[in-house]
Amino acid sequence: MTNLRNIPAIDELLTLPHIQELLQQYNREFIVETLRRAVEESRQDLRKNGGETSKQGLAAKILKRLDILIANATRGSLQKVINGTGVVLHTNLGRAPLGQRALAYLNEMGKNYNNLEFNLENGERGSRYQHVEDLLITLTGAEAGLVVNNNAAAVLLGLTTLARDKEVIVSRGQLIEIGGAFRIPDVMKQSGAHLVEVGTTNKTYISDYAQAINDNTALLFSAHTSNYKIVGFSEEVRLSELVTLGRQRNIPVMHDLGSGILTDLGEWGLKDEPTVRACVDSGADIISFSGDKLLGGPQAGIIVGKQKYITAMKKNQLTRALRVDKLNIAALEGTLLEYLSGNPLQAIPVLEMLTAAREELGERAEKLCVALKGTLEPTETIQSINVVAIDDMVGGGAYPTYKIPGYGVQIAFKEKQLETVARQLREMNPALLTRKQEDKMLISVRTLLDGDAAVVLDILRNVLVAEIESEIDPGEKL
Ligand SMILES: *Cc1c(COP(=O)(O)O)cnc(C)c1O
Repeated sequence: MTNLRNIPAIDELLTLPHIQELLQQYNREFIVETLRRAVEESRQDLRKNGGETSKQGLAAKILKRLDILIANATRGSLQKVINGTGVVLHTNLGRAPLGQRALAYLNEMGKNYNNLEFNLENGERGSRYQHVEDLLITLTGAEAGLVVNNNAAAVLLGLTTLARDKEVIVSRGQLIEIGGAFRIPDVMKQSGAHLVEVGTTNKTYISDYAQAINDNTALLFSAHTSNYKIVGFSEEVRLSELVTLGRQRNIPVMHDLGSGILTDLGEWGLKDEPTVRACVDSGADIISFSGDKLLGGPQAGIIVGKQKYITAMKKNQLTRALRVDKLNIAALEGTLLEYLSGNPLQAIPVLEMLTAAREELGERAEKLCVALKGTLEPTETIQSINVVAIDDMVGGGAYPTYKIPGYGVQIAFKEKQLETVARQLREMNPALLTRKQEDKMLISVRTLLDGDAAVVLDILRNVLVAEIESEIDPGEKL
């Protein structure tokens, strides 16, 4: 049996100078609690693995473990991730990284008071919804606009305001689910509107909608099937056709556009996604889309359309619960201003990544490859490091079938399991997320932001080179 007698008592440990110092810096309960954990873990370790049993040696081990536990607990849960996947709008990675103007605005409005709900002209109460409305009108050509928490909220608000206890006609081909459990039928239920499905999964005609209209019909609803595409034998009703029918029968049309794109990216091969303006021009009464997808801003649900419907939504009590906060308004305004007076294709990271020139990506991959070879090639684990042509993706449920030709660096390992390295890279801070392709590791350069390449180098060195050194001294891993 292992001798556990020499494990120091908590009270004893608390008198040590190092812990006294920690108590000056951190919350006392936190230190005491974490110390208890460190002692307990050391006890288990000793029981299981044996080793050092002198009182002093045990105390040193406990202190070391304590420092690691404190470092882990105080670095925050939300942490920076370097996106080497080549998926530009990665929903699990926070979607759109913000541009400089959005960040500057966010900082300014976050640390100061501001006119969020104050009319500076007449000194009276104002509305938080006024702030980006004019910008949205200018940029989309709509009559009015409103911003809520996210697009799911926008759809919910539209449905409940216009069609509560009434019928809403939707094509069976558009009963979509978007990542994170946004399902059109469920949102419909939540809104109190009655879903009337028409057509089939692959084919819906305008006559299907027309036949389903009755006195109880309040809305014709269409959703952009953003994260999948029905190819082959299929038929979808165009938004403009739906609008014509709506006009004839005096029923408004709402379109859930999903990813609201403000600039035409056809030149870069991104042709399938209609711009918000094109939807407005087609006559849809209400259009909703996300702020953090192709628009490249913060999380937000943006609604544009006819004045009377937007006004009705603003008056809906639910809007209060779905409201957007000042930081989001600031970041959204900073992003939208870039479309008005800046250079969105360069200043909005999402657009910059999507429109990056292929040759430039090739050069960046070449540079990263050379640097990686210099740092990593002496390691035993690596078979080869190469530049490869790859397909990147838009992500975020836009252009589901479109692959953007790009470049990346491919690392092939000799023996070491790819999964093991990938996991170690994810556990670094910042974390590095890579792609796996044919048993090799791939790092796309398209989704590396300014300064990321140098950090990628550091992270890989730490995981692959430093690991070999640490294997010499397993005692390190307390
Ligand atoms: C992404 C998406 C949503 C959900 O938007 P959030 O901003 O994530 O709430 C809804 N509908 C469509 C068509 C989408 O693409």
